[in-house]
Amino acid sequence: MAAITEAKDPIRVLMPNGSVVSMAMDEYLKGVVPHEVPPSWPSEALRAQAVAARSYASTRTAHLRQGADVCTTTHCQAWGKTHYPATDKAVDFTHGVVIRYKGSVIQAFFSAHCDGHTRNSEDVWVTALPYCRSVSCPCGYTFVFGHGVGMCQQGARTLAKSGHSYIAILKHYYTDVEVTAKADELPEPEPAPPVSGGIFCKIAFYIEFVQSACFTLLDVLPDHWPFVGIRSFVTSVKDDLGKVIAFLWKADTWALTVGADVLTRVKTGDLNGLIEDYAPGVWSFFQDPKGKVKGYLKDNYPELWSFQDDPKQYVLDRLKETHEELHNFALDPPGWINTNIGDVIDEVRWFIRDPYHFVHWWLLKMDSPLAPWWADFRKELGDAMDSETTKMQGWVTGRMLHILQNVIERCWDKGEPE
Ligand SMILES: [Zn+2]
Ligand SMILES: [Zn+2]
Repeated sequence: MAAITEAKDPIRVLMPNGSVVSMAMDEYLKGVVPHEVPPSWPSEALRAQAVAARSYASTRTAHLRQGADVCTTTHCQAWGKTHYPATDKAVDFTHGVVIRYKGSVIQAFFSAHCDGHTRNSEDVWVTALPYCRSVSCPCGYTFVFGHGVGMCQQGARTLAKSGHSYIAILKHYYTDVEVTAKADELPEPEPAPPVSGGIFCKIAFYIEFVQSACFTLLDVLPDHWPFVGIRSFVTSVKDDLGKVIAFLWKADTWALTVGADVLTRVKTGDLNGLIEDYAPGVWSFFQDPKGKVKGYLKDNYPELWSFQDDPKQYVLDRLKETHEELHNFALDPPGWINTNIGDVIDEVRWFIRDPYHFVHWWLLKMDSPLAPWWADFRKELGDAMDSETTKMQGWVTGRMLHILQNVIERCWDKGEPE
């Protein structure tokens, strides 16, 4: 089949009654475009659709046996007699313009919407069309409606809304193509980066450059060992970038619509309404912070929840698990002291009350050679141990133990929060 390099004009249309009507390409397109997309869409989206439809119709060969180029159903492109001013203008504006790949008019497939990235033609049909590559798409849908190859109509609409020209839209969906009226015309200058979108849209645009480098790599990398690993890596990078781009597009739409509303509310001081509308979680937190925190703890950290419910019990339980001795002490401090260091305390008490006898007893117990010497020393001092001093020592000892006990008990009781 000879390459088709120009728009078909006139075009032969197979009517529903079986007759074939030859009509000007633009007249035919004026009956196609409003059947493919609503005439209320942005003009650049309508123009993109007109050019895609012109290119697609120019390459159709399915009805040659009937002496026609296209039929009037979705088998080729839906056509009807009704015209609309907006779609008529889009067709007139793009008169003669088609999409070309290496000089030939392309089969400009399009479908209702994709799911964030369009499909490679060979992933849907058999033929790998070099200009129908999978590209990221800002249409915002999560499922495919139609075949998903070529231009995504909803995505074209989104791009048009954010300031892309019909040429930029077509070049986004069809890879490595030129969009011109005549084959020998100089290609149009590269469209400037879209600036009417928001900041996210601009970031997405530059990420698309990186993504297109991935596509180029996939084109040139052989499909066999040892390149398979590299290919799958590049593919995953490309897919991830696609996700980032789709996300940025969504963020941009959000920023342009919601952002304006937020700005207005900030200016008018409607902060309560702002929080209530855009951060209902935060709002409900403000309504009942304590309840929210409690609920959150109870759901997510049952242990912490039981702590705030009964801190003393919580600490006791944790101690029991990890430090049993401390746990026993905490349960009954004076009792624990009596059991565990009662003997020592008694000895300390004895020492304070009667240091000389205590030391003697201790030296004997140690079987120390100093014991006899100490006994002599004790005898020498004898009466020097004034009985009043002894009484005072006893009193001090008693007070000290009493205070110590009180401190332990009070510390524990005061430790309980209200
Ligand atoms: Zn047909
Ligand atoms: Zn899409």
